[in-house]
Amino acid sequence: MTGCPSGPHGRRRGHREEEATATPGAGPHPAPADSTSADSGLPRADSGSTPTASPPTDSVSGPPAPAVRTVLGDIPGTELGVCDSHDHLFLRSPRLPGQELDEVGAAEEQLRGFAGHGGQSLVQWTPYGMGRRSGALAELARRTGVRIVAATGLHQAVHCAEKPPADLVALFVEELTRRMRGGACDQVPRAGLVKVAGDFHGLGPHARRTMAAAAEAHHETGAPIAVHLELGTGAAEVLALLCGEREVAPSRVLLGHLGRCPDLRMQREVAESGAWLVFDGPSRAHHATDWRLFDSLADLAERGLGDRILLGGDTVTATARAETGVPYVTRVLRPRVARELGEEFARRVFVDNPARAFAVPWKG
Ligand SMILES: [Zn+2]
Repeated sequence: MTGCPSGPHGRRRGHREEEATATPGAGPHPAPADSTSADSGLPRADSGSTPTASPPTDSVSGPPAPAVRTVLGDIPGTELGVCDSHDHLFLRSPRLPGQELDEVGAAEEQLRGFAGHGGQSLVQWTPYGMGRRSGALAELARRTGVRIVAATGLHQAVHCAEKPPADLVALFVEELTRRMRGGACDQVPRAGLVKVAGDFHGLGPHARRTMAAAAEAHHETGAPIAVHLELGTGAAEVLALLCGEREVAPSRVLLGHLGRCPDLRMQREVAESGAWLVFDGPSRAHHATDWRLFDSLADLAERGLGDRILLGGDTVTATARAETGVPYVTRVLRPRVARELGEEFARRVFVDNPARAFAVPWKG
């Protein structure tokens, strides 16, 4: 896919939400794909090859092999390696004035810090309308060798600076299977998951509408659905809607922020449903509950539910980036998981589980 599209989708690039600079900073330099070998704690799950774009084909017969849809193309889950399953390189929200994550250079620094401690892949959960910078994500993946997965989807209405398109299913499907809107010429990644959001202990009309659209887009494409749980609540309602009413397999649903509601019984129930529990942090904003993380992990591990857990940094503000940031995940969090719960467990939550959670048989 080269050159600027001239069709109707090309015109959509006019969206102000995420105009990407075509080539941030200096020209690309060779990606040090193996620069992460300083991390000797975990077996490497990849061969160190730099991901390459793999254009979609319509001629494949039979069920497609599960793949992770990165900004540089589809790869097998086993190529993700050590994965930050929920984070943000770019994000802006009307609710977080002055805290925007918008600079390509700063994002690259975050990625290199993460990779320097063994990080190999990152899933950005920033949805439509929040400054995802899809073109810059592709450029950064090329420059650093870190695999990056981008999101389509829609957050709570309070986080959207402008009115989203009326046809959400069309938006999500287009971004998952063709191109994300807002990318610059020659930077046309596809999204690899749909991000939506619940409300505090429930689902309001906006959440129900976006989740219904996410479920429909999932059925059309195979994409996993990642859910922001408001303060870690509402998991039961989300699963009832997505998996009950809308018949999405629980294994395709990733529930974020469960640590913000450290109710171990609720967390066990969610894990037993077959959905993914995506713990994140730490952050100043959630300090009150962040310290319960290892109680949750240990509790789930003891019950044999470690195969439902994912971990990420969820860096959403400039303050969080300055205080901990993406590198914290591999510099501090993963080593502590290995210390407290064993290397095997660390490997599972940072390598094996992401390989299963983000790899799906894409239908288009
Ligand atoms: Zn997030």
